[in-house]
Amino acid sequence: MSRTVNTRVVIVGCGIAGLAAAHRLLKAGFHHVRILEATSRSGGRIKTGKLGDDIVEIGANWIHGPSEQNPVFCLARQYGLLDPESLTPENQAVDIGGHPPWVPNVFSSSGRKLDVEDVSPAQQMFFELLTESSEFQSKGGEPQASVGDFIRSQMLKHAAEKWKDVDGQSRSLRLCVISNLLKVECCVNGSHSMDEVGLGAFGLYKTLPGLDCTFPGGYEGLIKKLMSELPEGLVSYNQPVRCVHWSNTDNRETPVTVECNDGETITTDHVIVTVPLGYLKKHHSTLFHPPLPLHKLHTIQRLGFGTNNKIFVEFDEPWWDADCEVIYFIWEDEDAMVDQVPDLQASWIRKLFGFTVLKPTERYGHVLCGWIAGHESEYMETLSELEVMRAITQLIRRFTGKPMISPRRIVRSQWFHDPWTCGSYSYPGKGCSEQDLDNMKEPLPLEGSHSKPLQVLFAGEATHPCYFSTAHGALLTGWREADRLISHYSTISPSELPKSKL
Ligand SMILES: Cc1cc2nc3c(=O)[nH]c(=O)nc-3n(C[C@H](O)[C@H](O)[C@H](O)COP(=O)(O)OP(=O)(O)OC[C@H]3O[C@@H](n4cnc5c(N)ncnc54)[C@H](O)[C@@H]3O)c2cc1C
Repeated sequence: MSRTVNTRVVIVGCGIAGLAAAHRLLKAGFHHVRILEATSRSGGRIKTGKLGDDIVEIGANWIHGPSEQNPVFCLARQYGLLDPESLTPENQAVDIGGHPPWVPNVFSSSGRKLDVEDVSPAQQMFFELLTESSEFQSKGGEPQASVGDFIRSQMLKHAAEKWKDVDGQSRSLRLCVISNLLKVECCVNGSHSMDEVGLGAFGLYKTLPGLDCTFPGGYEGLIKKLMSELPEGLVSYNQPVRCVHWSNTDNRETPVTVECNDGETITTDHVIVTVPLGYLKKHHSTLFHPPLPLHKLHTIQRLGFGTNNKIFVEFDEPWWDADCEVIYFIWEDEDAMVDQVPDLQASWIRKLFGFTVLKPTERYGHVLCGWIAGHESEYMETLSELEVMRAITQLIRRFTGKPMISPRRIVRSQWFHDPWTCGSYSYPGKGCSEQDLDNMKEPLPLEGSHSKPLQVLFAGEATHPCYFSTAHGALLTGWREADRLISHYSTISPSELPKSKL
């Protein structure tokens, strides 16, 4: 009989990290596993919605780096959830380094469609500087505190040297392109501004080979498959956890009690906490008793967790080229390389960098996905769908110079106001280091304590040392914490095992 049979594990949160942990534990013979989920659904930030008859991804969209090392790709392949094209060795071998080679259409605020040559010198310089920004992590030492500061200062230097013979107007336009690309990066990082993303830690994020792919039937199909393999009743829905009482000195045998919002209390041997970093930032003081150790708390504060939202817009006819995959909107008065707007109410829409085109057209029709990050995105969430649709319509009409364009309908995400997420995903904030990511995943009580070990474990995307902010990162952290428990019970002596209450 397995040594783990009587061990009780409670998992807080039924996103992909919580599900992955439950799967691994059950497979290893843990019988008393329970997931407590605050909402009425599983999947968390993997959430597939509808726009008319089309499916749209409200949360995670792509498998980033779909290749053998990516567990989300491997599972999706195993479950038969991917298009044949995504499965080809050629697709897996492409190494895009995080920058998909999309075909762009570029429009400016004076209603002109720009030539790709007008913008490509700025794009090229920007991507070189992003790559340079990633290198400080391994080199050590950071010349500036943030990626935004570094890019801006280097751009000014390079522009003065390399673009000295370019006429003033073209030069100014190139700097406006940089503002647009900074807004794109805010979406990629889920940050309000690139001035908040730490330069020294920027390179901690690692990409995998493979050309990003999507789930033709929706990302949530993966969650459904994972759920179908769990015993019924394992997940308690609408069961938010209020407080994890750990280090219970009165009862060394069962040192952890999980207190739910509805008053239910559950005694357990271990808790795996997978709540988003945004939730932790807001609720850490009430979620743990005793409070988290100071260094862990400081890490939670230092790591960034911002907002990136999507606005799906459907049209009767496309106003973009047939081969276009991404649309950029360049404001011609933004040559100061800005990624924040001065007045949220009046000009929040400026933060929307443009759209990606949902492909293939035969599947989606003419649907675009607008991307907007930061406080501007959080403000957008407070507006009605009609107000958002009006702002989008005005914007598109202005940039295309076509006053008759009218979207058919829209749907948008509202991740900041989701009380169980409080934003979109994590990024390394200013002053962060590798140590912070180690601190995030460190279980409680800390090593060296005389209390029962591994009472509280931490999983979820923000606890992955290099794939934070992704679905595959989240999944790996669930497996990691399950493995921590599995290896703990494979090394301890039978006399130390939890006694059965059954
Ligand atoms: C807009 C957007 C786009 C994205 N795009 C991509 C992409 O293209 N590719 C990619 O790989 N990743 C993407 N991501 C990131 C990816 O979705 C996440 O990294 C991943 O889903 C996180 O999984 P998780 O299990 O760590 O957290 P979550 O999925 O957030 O799960 C945590 C769960 O905990 C629950 N919870 C919170 N508080 C409590 C409580 N007190 N008690 C009980 N339960 C609680 C929540 O309801 C939630 O279900 C995107 C995310 C967003 C928001």
